[in-house]
Amino acid sequence: MSNYTLTVHGAGKEIGRSSFVLNAENENILMDYGVKFTPEETAYPVPITKKLDAAILSHAHFDHSGFVPHLYVDNPTHLFTTKPTLELSKMLWADSLKIAAQEGETPAYSKAHIAAAETNAVGMNYRKPVDITKNARLEFFDAGHILGSALSKISIKNKTFVYTGDFMLPPIRLHNGADVKSIGKVDYLMMESTYGNRMHPDREKVIHDFMAKIRETLDRGGHVVIAAFAIGRSQEILDILFEYGVDAPVFVDGMSRKATEIYHQFPQYNSKPKVVQRMLEQLNFVVHPGIRKQTLKQPSVIVTTAGMLEGGPVMFYLDKLHADERNSLLLTGYQVEGTKGRVLLETGKIELETGLVEPKMEIQRFDFSAHSGKDHLIKTIETLSPEHLVLIHGDEKISGTFTEELRGMGFHVSNPGVGDTVKL
Ligand SMILES: [Zn+2]
Ligand SMILES: [Zn+2]
Repeated sequence: MSNYTLTVHGAGKEIGRSSFVLNAENENILMDYGVKFTPEETAYPVPITKKLDAAILSHAHFDHSGFVPHLYVDNPTHLFTTKPTLELSKMLWADSLKIAAQEGETPAYSKAHIAAAETNAVGMNYRKPVDITKNARLEFFDAGHILGSALSKISIKNKTFVYTGDFMLPPIRLHNGADVKSIGKVDYLMMESTYGNRMHPDREKVIHDFMAKIRETLDRGGHVVIAAFAIGRSQEILDILFEYGVDAPVFVDGMSRKATEIYHQFPQYNSKPKVVQRMLEQLNFVVHPGIRKQTLKQPSVIVTTAGMLEGGPVMFYLDKLHADERNSLLLTGYQVEGTKGRVLLETGKIELETGLVEPKMEIQRFDFSAHSGKDHLIKTIETLSPEHLVLIHGDEKISGTFTEELRGMGFHVSNPGVGDTVKL
């Protein structure tokens, strides 16, 4: 035991609004500052009342980065992150201001706060340790999740603390797998537990079934709508479509173009820079809403956001295509509890602008996860062999059951909720 503590400001027994404060040697280090969207509300982290000495951003996904500019409203500090994460985050922050303006909402921060985040950001590379406070040294390792994603190793005095953020242990199409083996011995491990309940199916089989569904849909004269997150998942899907080929035009709509450009800007952070370049050169990007209708003139494949059907251009396509059983909607990412995507899978119904509908189009989810499956999570714990494991970033039931299982295996595990403080 040390006198160090970890306070969960978000993403304890839930997914979304990741936000954690490590207190050690009278210093406070923030890890991630995200936002959680639910159909009812936007949930922010529990306010941080202590002065921060440093902030770390693990990766750009909005549930980790979305509230970062708000630090520059009332708790400014240096922001340690990778350069691609900063670029991707800036894209998402700017987009959130645009959406707030469209919906007539007051945003939680302004353009000036985004600029302040950029000014205070320190761009880090993997495996290059940096002193981030008087007592803490930070080293990033590739997390294999999306472009720029990092595992954070924080060394304070003689103790070592690791925060995984979101990570994928085995390689996926554009990333080489989390670099867990380079971290070394760890005292405290704070690990995501999104898939603490199950392993992923064989990736090759998923790709096979996915391509079969696309071909089947096109053969019967339908459109294929592929809902994918802009960052990471879209690029992976496009890589698959390139490799296997489809006999129809492929359109890409939403923020994926900008995200793909950022992938292109940082070729050393992904494993297929040439393929990324080909995407930008050869794909049909829907660059303004006027082009959108043209995508529906003949059977086509449309890769679009939002990945959990929480808005974005996918809503346009669902509105136009849901009533025709020849069409397909393919979901390619985790559907967080309460999102429209999850509700659709559970009830077969979705709320569109025109009202609640029961789509006739075929709906199927494919597991292209970029989160470690249960077997990878356990392997990570065994590799790092921490004296104390803290599970975060998991739905309540999943992280609870996983905690019990891991305790049964002899590990010292905490499963804190939002607002809880864990003694390390
Ligand atoms: Zn993520
Ligand atoms: Zn996440």
